[in-house]
Amino acid sequence: MQIKGIARDTLDFILEASRSMAPEEFAGLLQEKNGIITEVLILPGTESSDTNAVLRLYMMPNIKAAGSVHSHPGQNRRPSNADLRLFSKTGNYHIIVGSPYSRQSWTCYDREGNIRELPVLDVEFEEEEEV
Ligand code: ZN
Repeated sequence: MQIKGIARDTLDFILEASRSMAPEEFAGLLQEKNGIITEVLILPGTESSDTNAVLRLYMMPNIKAAGSVHSHPGQNRRPSNADLRLFSKTGNYHIIVGSPYSRQSWTCYDREGNIRELPVLDVEFEEEEEV
């Protein structure tokens, strides 16, 4: 599946979640619909601990996703070795968010850890019709 980009609302959600989790790490899996990343599957049972969020993400069963997302507590957005192991396991779009969690403070990588473009798209979400 060719990924066209990420929905702006989804990116904003990621940034907001990363900000509110800091200095804890936020981590989740990216899910796409029709080639656009519109959903984040958040790690269950996230709690304050020294456990690395990426390692816990890595252990999620049946990982099938367009990629992953997680935050770093500081401004360094380079993937760690644990990050690269996760990247190689699922998907080809891996977002790392860093402080201060603004629209400029995220980077997308491919599964080898090379920086790649991920366009931010304004998507109209289909509204559920009220019955
Ligand atoms: Zn990381």
